[in-house]
Amino acid sequence: MQISPIPTLSDDINDIRTRTANIVAEKIIPNEREIYSKSENSASVRKEIREQVKKEKLWAPHLPEEYGGMGIGFMAHAYMNEILAWSPLSNRLFGVIAPNSGNQKVLLKYGSKEQKKKWLEPLISGEMESAFSMTEPDNAGSDPRSIQTTAKKEGDEWVINGHKVMTSNGIKADFAIVMCRTEEEGEDGEVNSRMTQIIVPTDTPGFNVIRSVPIWGHTGGDHVEIKYENVRVPVENQLGARGTGHAAAQDRLGAGRVFHCMNSIGQMWRAFDLMLQRTITREVHGGKLETKQMIQGFIADSYIDIQTARLMTIHCAEVMDSENDPRVDISAIKIYVPEAMHRVVDRAIQVYGWKGVSADLPLFGMYQGARTLRLADGPDEVHRILIAKQVLKKYHQGLSWDFGI
Ligand SMILES: Cc1cc2nc3c(=O)[nH]c(=O)nc-3n(C[C@H](O)[C@H](O)[C@H](O)COP(=O)(O)OP(=O)(O)OC[C@H]3O[C@@H](n4cnc5c(N)ncnc54)[C@H](O)[C@@H]3O)c2cc1C
Repeated sequence: MQISPIPTLSDDINDIRTRTANIVAEKIIPNEREIYSKSENSASVRKEIREQVKKEKLWAPHLPEEYGGMGIGFMAHAYMNEILAWSPLSNRLFGVIAPNSGNQKVLLKYGSKEQKKKWLEPLISGEMESAFSMTEPDNAGSDPRSIQTTAKKEGDEWVINGHKVMTSNGIKADFAIVMCRTEEEGEDGEVNSRMTQIIVPTDTPGFNVIRSVPIWGHTGGDHVEIKYENVRVPVENQLGARGTGHAAAQDRLGAGRVFHCMNSIGQMWRAFDLMLQRTITREVHGGKLETKQMIQGFIADSYIDIQTARLMTIHCAEVMDSENDPRVDISAIKIYVPEAMHRVVDRAIQVYGWKGVSADLPLFGMYQGARTLRLADGPDEVHRILIAKQVLKKYHQGLSWDFGI
């Protein structure tokens, strides 16, 4: 892993990248097996790394300083993520643990003073775990406006009824932020103003976990199916104003998509590095892999995939950081980057033969992750529709698309 300062970036961002890279390369990657083993020693290795991360002031890049985080801007966090992602273990060791980190951001923006004290602070200190409960088995997750879980006001309580699935971290969670329909069709309000997010402690009567959904054959996962049956919570558990649920979900996903893409780029970068190490050492059919033209094609195609994905994501982050509308660029990277990652990791797996699909290397996890990303945070088709709609709108207005901004 070689991370040099980027000439166009500030000294601060370069410093964060370099110090992050030192910990990832020297402390995390060499200890990955030990940490995964969950042995007694693994706990002490994790503790030691977390302490170093905190000492170096690299803990929780997504949080402001007053909540114990780094208090860095959006661009710095995005650039840090591509380094963190070299190891699948880094995010947790740097205090960014999904879905808690997304919930922390939403609580920071939409939570009242009391909600921050009661839910956000224990979530940050690690005393509590959380989940985000939006997707439903019987309605299209790709169209959150179709959500049928309802919350009705009765006196000073919200009464929630509905059926959710794929609520990640749902077993461990102490509370879930639940997306509920609070306004009926035909009532006042835009179609996007019918949802409200409500905080539900998981020990509330009627919060009934049906099962944990096995993903990629893992039976021990924590993506759960839940029935909400007359779940009663006080009205003060409403997060933000009534009808802001959709906007809060978009807020959560917008910046999150850039971070996920920078994460994917870090993983591709490592997969590329691993592939290169193999091609210059492995002998096949009378020569090193690097001498075979088909494998040279792999190297060139992966280089192109990574560089295009990276530049597109940085451009999108810059648009987000400016006053311009980033929606088309967000959707474009959300489609392009997981697909590029899929190809890059696939080539790396191929050159490793059996080892590529074994647990000796992190490639199989990256492969599954790339595939999963094409569904999570909005499937590809929905993002394609958004891009086409926005582009067509311009042309119907008699304008053309400006790729320069
Ligand atoms: C590992 C993982 C973790 C997740 N964690 C959470 C979580 O913590 N909380 C949560 O609430 N959800 C979570 N989800 C759910 C995720 O957000 C949904 O899977 C996603 O939004 C898609 O919804 P759906 O699965 O209901 O697919 P559907 O909406 O049923 O769509 C199915 C397919 O139809 C196609 N499609 C959809 N619309 C169109 C269209 N207009 N035109 C053409 N084709 C279309 C797409 O190919 C799409 O993949 C998670 C999912 C995964 C895989």
